[in-house]
Amino acid sequence: MQITFFGAAGTVTGSKHFVTDGTTRLLVDCGLYQGLKTLRLRNWRPPPVDPSSLDAIVLTHAHIDHSGYLPVMVREGFRGPIYVTEPTRDLVQILLEDSAHLQEEEARNANREGYSHHDLAAPLYTVADAKRVFDQLVTIEFRKPYSVDGIGIEHTPAGHILGAGSVRLSTDRTSILFSGDLGPPDDPIIRPPEPPPAADWVVMESTYGDRDHPPIDPIEQLAQVVDRTLARGGKVLISAFAVGRAQRILYSLGQAFARGLAREAPVYLDSPMASDVTELYLHHHDFHKLSEEDTRAMCRSATFLRSREDSQTLNGKREPCVIISASGMLSGGRILHHMKHLIRYPEHTILLPGFQAPGASLLAGAKSVKIHGQRFSVKAEIALLSTYSAHAGQSALLEWIGQIPEPPRGVFLVHGEPAAADCLRLEIADRHGFPVRVAEDRETVDCLAPFGNEVRD
Ligand SMILES: [Zn+2]
Repeated sequence: MQITFFGAAGTVTGSKHFVTDGTTRLLVDCGLYQGLKTLRLRNWRPPPVDPSSLDAIVLTHAHIDHSGYLPVMVREGFRGPIYVTEPTRDLVQILLEDSAHLQEEEARNANREGYSHHDLAAPLYTVADAKRVFDQLVTIEFRKPYSVDGIGIEHTPAGHILGAGSVRLSTDRTSILFSGDLGPPDDPIIRPPEPPPAADWVVMESTYGDRDHPPIDPIEQLAQVVDRTLARGGKVLISAFAVGRAQRILYSLGQAFARGLAREAPVYLDSPMASDVTELYLHHHDFHKLSEEDTRAMCRSATFLRSREDSQTLNGKREPCVIISASGMLSGGRILHHMKHLIRYPEHTILLPGFQAPGASLLAGAKSVKIHGQRFSVKAEIALLSTYSAHAGQSALLEWIGQIPEPPRGVFLVHGEPAAADCLRLEIADRHGFPVRVAEDRETVDCLAPFGNEVRD
């Protein structure tokens, strides 16, 4: 088998790993580039692999940076099955439709407000394109191997988000394990990742390869920021990915209020997608830790704002409150409208729960920020809640790879900023002695050749 890395090499988005044994052609993950504009522009390149030549696509999980390119592949001719776990199937439908809506909306705004430099902005794909993907989703189960034309495939739980897994591909000659995104071992809602099965090659994520999450109680940390903002009469705007983080924050706010760690205030979940996703937790109890009662309590803990009108009424409200809004990458959606209203006033707080490229400049103390082509001064408190990450920190990543039953022939690190990936590379080599290096974009690895004999484009 050969692997070619398209995306998520030297960055954290755009995961697409092409695997072939010479006849069967698979894509593991089919993600969109997100965040910085230089990365997003890559979404407009022609597909890296001829979509009609692929036999199947296998998803590790539903996040858009792993699934958001599917509508382009299907529109451009991919007709094969897309293998997913049940929760991933449900999440992908919600996420892709939302992603298409966001892109249509951004294109419309750009054309109306004239802040695009193009003559006429067009969406990368439409809602109709996104819906065409759904018929090709085929559900599989964790730990139940299946095969596509001679390549064996098995998914094992990876924590991270509902339904997320690692994917092991095998032929009679070699095997490759794709870690997918790995969750932290102590997530309050999602179970920890399972130890990796044996594999010759491991393609591993490295998002937090250079650091551990601070050893702070996430509920107390959240409670402190919320309480001090409410005390000065402000609103807390929490930027959250609709999948995973939004639910962790809802759960933690409920705990913080119940334990008296923060004064109570109304909580609004201002994202139709996050609302739909939260309700999915009621249907997939096998994939998370919460009891049915706790899941219902989580769903009741906030007012779900689905319509745009409901969302806009928040701007007129003067009372302190907590608003959880999407998108987590600050690249679009309702959060930008709330930011425009709140960021200029010192009583409010913008809470960035974890690593995100565009939020980095705010966290670094940027004095102003551009939203929808307009510049706003930053007066609000900007805070980071890194403990709300859905990713394992460095120690947990090292522990996970260290549990592999046999030393792999080589480890390739993907899905990390260069510094994070390189730091994890050094630690894996030092701690476990495995041959390891950081994958390069568009390079091809021959899994039958010795480590270090990779072909570079
Ligand atoms: Zn993910």
